[in-house]
Amino acid sequence: MPLNDAMITALLFRDDAYLKTASARVLAVHELGIELDRTIFYPMGGGQLGDTGALLRANGERIPILDTRKGDAIDSVRHVPAPGMPQPEIGETLTLEIDWQRRYSLMRLHTALHVMSCVVVAPVSGGNISPDKGRLDFDIDMSLLDAKRIEHETNALIARGVETETVWISDGELDARPELVKTMSVQPPRGAGRVRLLKIPGIDLQPCGGTHVRNISEIGGIRVLKIRSEGKRNKRVEIALA
Ligand SMILES: [Zn+2]
Repeated sequence: MPLNDAMITALLFRDDAYLKTASARVLAVHELGIELDRTIFYPMGGGQLGDTGALLRANGERIPILDTRKGDAIDSVRHVPAPGMPQPEIGETLTLEIDWQRRYSLMRLHTALHVMSCVVVAPVSGGNISPDKGRLDFDIDMSLLDAKRIEHETNALIARGVETETVWISDGELDARPELVKTMSVQPPRGAGRVRLLKIPGIDLQPCGGTHVRNISEIGGIRVLKIRSEGKRNKRVEIALA
């Protein structure tokens, strides 16, 4: 299938991560998933899992969505339906619903990892966020990681209750400020001309395309589940919401 502008999906979650429902038109249906002209479903990326939920047809049929993945083109999104479900028609209008409880946990944990990355001062060598726990891997000596200290200092920053902001800069501006990129394993996406940053004023500023809470007080607090070595350059800190 040829890729053209019509296959690009407007990413509504980028401007408003709190959208729980929306309507959209079907652009394509193929074995890898359903593509829409706009979506509130976050596709897996940057360590954050893809959203789940459902697409509702006008006739009342419900198509469960088990996962959301990026397509080949920039900003293309594939909504992966449960097997054996009826397929929507091209051009059909659907109502989108995400599993909000799951997504909100991902948003809180994701934002918590931004805060924690400012407590552990070391390059980040990996990360992952699932609904019940999140982790970052650091290139650091084990002896410098203290679970109680990380928990205490992260929670002290969360208690500041700072509003988060989305900031866009050009690729050139990012090149001029390489210190912004903490994560060695995930380079920010290039080629679109601009890069999205998450700013937590006074705490963190780094490229990120994920979904975050509006105010870090929504995280509530975190606890450190475990710290362990995953190799010479990977010391893993795993957290859950308190
Ligand atoms: Zn983020």
